Amino acid sequence: MEQSYLDNLVGVFGHPVAENPTCVMQDAAFAHLGIRWKYLTIEVLPRDLAAAVAGMRAMNMRGINLTIPHKVAVIDHLDEVAPDAAVMGAVNTVRRDGDRLIGENTDGKGFLRSLSDDAGIDPCGKRVMVLGAGGASRAICVELANAGAARIDLVNRSVERAEALVDLLQRNTGSEVRFRRWDATVAVDADVDVLVNATSIGLFPDVGALPDVDMQTVREGMVVCDVIPNPPQTAFLDLARDRGAITLDGLGMLVYQGAIGFKMWTGLEAPVDVMRGALQKVFG
Ligand code: NDP
Repeated sequence: MEQSYLDNLVGVFGHPVAENPTCVMQDAAFAHLGIRWKYLTIEVLPRDLAAAVAGMRAMNMRGINLTIPHKVAVIDHLDEVAPDAAVMGAVNTVRRDGDRLIGENTDGKGFLRSLSDDAGIDPCGKRVMVLGAGGASRAICVELANAGAARIDLVNRSVERAEALVDLLQRNTGSEVRFRRWDATVAVDADVDVLVNATSIGLFPDVGALPDVDMQTVREGMVVCDVIPNPPQTAFLDLARDRGAITLDGLGMLVYQGAIGFKMWTGLEAPVDVMRGALQKVFG
């Protein structure tokens, strides 16, 4: 018997959400595999989140992504939260297990998979410097620490947000964590293996903006990553490549976090090249 569309609905709740590109990559993946799934982009005001989650249950939706401002608030409306998402205190993907809604966070996992699949890097034993202490940084740092990173140097402008993340990492993981306040040009220590820009500096339309890093301290062979998906080739990555670094863009992280969600929902391996190609068309 043919399945109805209503058994196969997924989507994203956000506010504002109109510019969210995820539907393009998920629908491209469904079409490529010839499965009758549909990804909806749904505007949900903060005051309506509980009703939206109840509606998702009522319509038997298979899963949902959460974006700004719902990643933290959604936790109160779920039946269970995966351990790493619970440590982060944020959920970007909800999957269904029977009648139960389970919260996951695939952002940091997407970053790690991009690191391994696109750059061939295993973070175990590596010393990583992360710029920024917001949601993206939090997800990346927790997964890096869980994967056995030897040391995480956290560099952030505001002290309060960074100290909260340092405290969270120290309480929940075994990695050494150090904090450096970002109030002047930051030098990258000579023993750092991986440098990550996890701030929003360089995001469209502010494409020329650069994190205040002394690029002379970026050495040949260092892996330099950016979380900015649009444009994927940031000015920061251009400078890092000029210094001989191996660079990794934020498009990979976006594709893989979506691919991990795709597998959680459908049980199928995601066609990552198709998803990447679909996003590249959107970002131009
Ligand atoms: P948040 O607002 O939670 O955090 C932003 C971070 O950037 C903070 O640490 C903030 O510092 C820092 N920052 C912003 N502007 C400056 C500046 N001028 N100088 C120094 N620090 C600055 O945002 P998110 O963490 O949610 O998102 C960050 C970026 O990650 C966005 O561009 C987003 O698009 C991207 N992202 C990419 C994903 C992907 O799959 N590729 C997934 C998720 C996010 P402070 O604490 O001092 O304010």
